[in-house]
Amino acid sequence: MRTSFAIGIDVGGTRIAAGLVERKGRVVKDARTPTPTNGPFGIVDTIIEAVEHMSEGVHPSDIAGIGIGLPAQIDFLKQSVEFCTNLPLAGVDVRSLVLSRVRHEVTIDNDGNLAANGEYRFGAAKGARDFIMLTLGTGVGGGLFLDGEPYRGSRGMGGEVGHMVVQMDGPPCPCGGKGHLESYLGRPAIAARGVKLAGTAKGRAVLDEAAGDISQVNAEAVIKAALKGDEAAREILLEGGEVLGRALVGLVNLLNPRLIVIGGGIGEACGFLVERAAEVMQAEALAGRRDATFTQGELGNDAGILGAAALAFDEHDSREAIHR
Ligand SMILES: [Zn+2]
Repeated sequence: MRTSFAIGIDVGGTRIAAGLVERKGRVVKDARTPTPTNGPFGIVDTIIEAVEHMSEGVHPSDIAGIGIGLPAQIDFLKQSVEFCTNLPLAGVDVRSLVLSRVRHEVTIDNDGNLAANGEYRFGAAKGARDFIMLTLGTGVGGGLFLDGEPYRGSRGMGGEVGHMVVQMDGPPCPCGGKGHLESYLGRPAIAARGVKLAGTAKGRAVLDEAAGDISQVNAEAVIKAALKGDEAAREILLEGGEVLGRALVGLVNLLNPRLIVIGGGIGEACGFLVERAAEVMQAEALAGRRDATFTQGELGNDAGILGAAALAFDEHDSREAIHR
């Protein structure tokens, strides 16, 4: 039976987004709520409430299923959450917990993979068989599409571009590693640099964005000051762009993608950061690979829910094909 809708859920470090999505990628209805901070069951409850809200008024047989993106390393075949740095979901059987309380099939995947899937199906990467997606947000996520397929690796956990080492013995990463891309570009990393800056004479603009309270300096304060032209704040983000460019040199040399899509809240707000990354990549990558095109994501905050919904449609259609 051909269903009309799927529900896509995108669980982020700061908010949970949900959408009711048509097959062609139109978001019919969507909602966003802050990610609860009261533990894993609070997060699961919020996901279920979002599903209920999205399914209101739609006949259950019209819904193909639910796709959920989590900021976690997921064993896609087992549908288990193996590791999760920014939320307390490691080892939590999110799929079964949701499945036991809803009327539809549930599939979970890494949020970066799903953002890439969204851009591939409906956005900036439509028709690109080889591309790399990076999402710059609370964490640095990403997804690889190679030869028209998401690359998942042996256990489905591949594509963690945010945890490539870009500096030996560099700053600590939330994952426990050192000198990873996320140690420079995740929100906590940018906030930490902002706090350091705000304590100095050059940090006035950043401090102003936090209403003069250094304990309130966060990544957004740095970004706002930078977008208003503050040089010191811009420098923090340009350094992030430089590090991102270096990481991309490695990826482009290794994979020879046609396209690099930069999404996520920080990636979309800071065009100058992306430009710096592109300059570094184009200057340093092996000749012949420098023509990889850079683009910002087209789907904005909807990339995750659209990718999750597309996954739910695919899973539904392959179940139907088996039954036929
Ligand atoms: Zn890491």
